[in-house]
Amino acid sequence: MLFAWLRRRRRRRLLARPWNEDDLATLAALRFAVPIPEASAPRWRDIARVLEAEIHWEGRGGLEVTRAMRFAVAGSAARMAIGLPDGAFDRVRTVLLAPDDFRPSQPPVDELGIVHVDARHIGEAWHEGIVLLSWDEVAASLEQPGVGQDVVVHEFAHQLDLGTDSWFDGTPDLATEAERVRWRDVMQREYDDLVAAVARGAKTFLDPYGATNPSEFFAVVSEELFDRPRGLAARHAELYAVLAAFYGQDPAAALA
Ligand SMILES: [Zn+2]
Repeated sequence: MLFAWLRRRRRRRLLARPWNEDDLATLAALRFAVPIPEASAPRWRDIARVLEAEIHWEGRGGLEVTRAMRFAVAGSAARMAIGLPDGAFDRVRTVLLAPDDFRPSQPPVDELGIVHVDARHIGEAWHEGIVLLSWDEVAASLEQPGVGQDVVVHEFAHQLDLGTDSWFDGTPDLATEAERVRWRDVMQREYDDLVAAVARGAKTFLDPYGATNPSEFFAVVSEELFDRPRGLAARHAELYAVLAAFYGQDPAAALA
């Protein structure tokens, strides 16, 4: 465990160094559904720089992880943390990049007890601060933003979900008791609504995968907040409001 003061000093040094022009160009070329607001750009770039430097990056299946790939993932994740307290992703220690979709580390078991060995995943988040991503999917989200799917946001939201209680329960660290009460209230109602809609086969704005459990719900609606904020605000105003309050950002307003 690294002492907090040591980490702060190391970060100050890192951020005081001149930027590598290629890294700046990589970040500038990232395309998001909601462009980073001018005023937030320096903070966004600094968070990305710290993530790129401190995370251990590893390629799977023969993938060579380039510096540009690291900054693409770090930049995508960093935009979630602009309005969060400093060090929001300190728990993320390792990012594993696979070339494309991969066999899940724990094959899913359905309600009949059948193990689906043929299942494929595009991302996973583990308790030990490990995130697994399909590079294909990361690139696809950046090439086609605005469709409500972003694997980096999804898996990094799972890491926020773990928070200090270390549970995948759909509840990240919230600042006040009032926020926790409102969170439980709104998230539970919206989650129940989605579960019911999916059960009756209704078409939903939210990805039906969010009905899997509260943790997947939080990850899925986080993708919507950053990728389709206007649609989310229009159809699920309260859900949008609690998410925007948690992330400390108002992406729908930033688009308007
Ligand atoms: Zn998930």
